Amino acid sequence: SSLLNPSYSFDNFMVGGSNQFAYAAIKSVSENPGKVYNPVFIYGGVGLGKTHLMQAAGNVLQNTGKVVIYATVEQFLNDFIRHVKNKTMDRFQEKYRKCDVLLIDDIQFLSNKEGIQEEFFHTFEALKGTGKQIILTADKHPKKIGGLEARLQSRFEWGLVADIQPPELETKIAIIKKKCEINKVKLSDEIVNYIATVIESNVREIEGILSKLHAYSQLMHVDIDIEFTKNVLKDQIKENRQNLTMDTITNVVAKDLNIKPSEIRSKGRSKNIVYARRISIYICRELTQSTMPQLAQYFGMKDHTAISHTIKKINDLIEKDEDFKVKIDELTNKLSSSS
Ligand code: ADP
Ligand code: MG
Repeated sequence: SSLLNPSYSFDNFMVGGSNQFAYAAIKSVSENPGKVYNPVFIYGGVGLGKTHLMQAAGNVLQNTGKVVIYATVEQFLNDFIRHVKNKTMDRFQEKYRKCDVLLIDDIQFLSNKEGIQEEFFHTFEALKGTGKQIILTADKHPKKIGGLEARLQSRFEWGLVADIQPPELETKIAIIKKKCEINKVKLSDEIVNYIATVIESNVREIEGILSKLHAYSQLMHVDIDIEFTKNVLKDQIKENRQNLTMDTITNVVAKDLNIKPSEIRSKGRSKNIVYARRISIYICRELTQSTMPQLAQYFGMKDHTAISHTIKKINDLIEKDEDFKVKIDELTNKLSSSS
């Protein structure tokens, strides 16, 4: 087991649609441990705030004098092995079965480990039986973890199971602003919005970006402006772009412009279809590895000469038509973050 991180507080946790259920569940057990939902089981993808939330409850409860234990499954397992070796299992049991609040992180690692599942089962029973609060996290719903004893799996669903989804744009913006405030990094709204649209939903990745920006600006004695940000993020964006397909691009463009993807790929000549098709072709050319013949085939054109003619036309338009360029930039940013 290890210490709680004091910066993982409820105040520092930004709440939005993606995490409000999990937040409410954890908040309520931090106010009423052992009384309302037991256990609380939070699940969701990497870097979405599970550890932060569970430790926020731990911090609150510790401050009210409760004995709180936080451990990842790995730490719990190592502790177990050590006590078995030293023949001090009584102390192991004393520690984990007599605390007021037990936080066990990344439960999916119990999968297919029978010995530790057995020990954890008895820990769980002892705590639950004496009304002590248990909070668990995992990357999946208990039903989906697999390799778990049935009695454990069912107990994980006894209290409340809540998921955390990737943050939506507004939540990402709120998180970025919060992290900037905590780390005393100054960013304009334009830059905050840019990072939020371009970077995927993993919050840990966003934090990495912020510290990278901060470090670069300090080392190079420059202010963090939008050009600088785009430069620093260039590699990140390229990585995210790699698995974009022409389908994804066409779907996103179609949705944005309120027409059907099939219309973009049709031979339709109406103004809005041609407009959407040009944008799609340009972005597919920029963001995918598709060749000219592949593009021609996908967009229903005769051959690669037809497509290269179209691309030339689009490049002319980008120079002349500011609105067209802005639209392409906007959709490119959006797509770079959605793959
Ligand atoms: P997980 O345990 O789900 O992999 P973490 O709890 O370790 O994710 O979160 C990764 C980082 O992202 C942490 O530094 C955490 O503070 C931050 N984070 C995640 N979600 C939020 C949020 N909603 N508000 C503020 N910070 C968040
Ligand atoms: Mg975690």
